[in-house]
Amino acid sequence: MSEPETIVIIGAGVIGLSTALHIQQYLSPNQSVLLVARDFPSDTSVNYTSPWAGAHYRPVPGSSPQVIREANQAQRTYEFMKRVAAHEPAAGVKFVQGIEHLEAPPREYEDAESLRNAHAGLDEYRRLSSSEVPSGVKWGIQYKTWVLNSPVYIAYMLRKFILKGGRTRQYVLGNLKEGFFLERNVRTVVHCSGLGFEDPKSFIIRGQTCLVRNPVSATITRQNKDGTWSFCIPRPLDGGTVIGGTKEPGNWDPNPSMETRATLLANAKKWFPFTLESGGEFDVIRDIVGRRPAREGGMRIEVEKMNDGRQVVHAYGAGGRGYEISRGVAEDTVALMLENGLLREKAAL
Ligand SMILES: Cc1cc2nc3c(=O)[nH]c(=O)nc-3n(C[C@H](O)[C@H](O)[C@H](O)COP(=O)(O)OP(=O)(O)OC[C@H]3O[C@@H](n4cnc5c(N)ncnc54)[C@H](O)[C@@H]3O)c2cc1C
Repeated sequence: MSEPETIVIIGAGVIGLSTALHIQQYLSPNQSVLLVARDFPSDTSVNYTSPWAGAHYRPVPGSSPQVIREANQAQRTYEFMKRVAAHEPAAGVKFVQGIEHLEAPPREYEDAESLRNAHAGLDEYRRLSSSEVPSGVKWGIQYKTWVLNSPVYIAYMLRKFILKGGRTRQYVLGNLKEGFFLERNVRTVVHCSGLGFEDPKSFIIRGQTCLVRNPVSATITRQNKDGTWSFCIPRPLDGGTVIGGTKEPGNWDPNPSMETRATLLANAKKWFPFTLESGGEFDVIRDIVGRRPAREGGMRIEVEKMNDGRQVVHAYGAGGRGYEISRGVAEDTVALMLENGLLREKAAL
């Protein structure tokens, strides 16, 4: 038998964990996986995005290559989340009604093909008539979608990874190539660090939300006339409700703004149907600030061959959609690894 080989995965966010779990299904008997990261679920650094996400799935219409690729990944993730919600209650995933209200719909919301790219496959999808939407709203839809409790979901994935034989190591890499030296025989490093290592195309999008105790039964997203967004996301397993949120490219401020909190809550009070027990006021648990790891043109999912025959498989730059596209990204990354002979063809189910 050949020398045991370790596949090193860098990053324990939703992308690294989803990819690690999928890779485990295709390992040869002499391969194992080591998950290396600066932050793991239970860590709460502002530079570790995954625990701060809402998170819900809201399809994004459009016709650019990035939007079309992400729509396809998101559709596969939607089907996957149905199975998780049905069979794995500890994952913290639940299907609820998703509602969208837009005051000034951008062009892609009026284009049938752009809409089809994003909305195909959504259960119980329907356009809302003008009498069904609140005043000021020009465009509305509803559909069945998933919401999840992000800290619970990543902790569940990590647990599952370890139960299936995966190993972990907390370590901060200064350079991606360090990954090849973390164990004896590493030929493949799978790179899921979120922002990448000095990739000039990478940038952050700051997001501020507010976690409240008040329950709500649906996830509602409202686009305001000034281009800002308001949303509420119920977090399953008694995780409260996330009220959001901002999208601020290039803003590195780690501190929550009290002014932003006041605006988010005032909008949520106007527009979202919190249940009677809220008493008309919000019971705040905490403000959340996170940095979405974005990349111009979207995620980099690509194999890079080193001069010595070793390979880096990149999967980073998910921006504001890491959960929504997570399963699709994991599948695409594994497909690339199979094509390049880095995993065995037949899944070891
Ligand atoms: C407020 C907010 C709301 C959001 N809502 C949603 C939502 O509703 N739906 C949705 O799909 N997405 C949402 N997102 C986006 C989502 O959170 C991100 O897309 C996702 O978390 C990115 O995951 P990731 O694994 O790529 O990165 P991360 O979660 O940041 O993980 C990166 C990993 O790489 C490790 N790492 C980085 N550098 C090094 C190094 N040098 N050495 C070792 N390890 C390293 C880190 O420690 C970490 O383990 C939201 C984000 C924010 C901030």
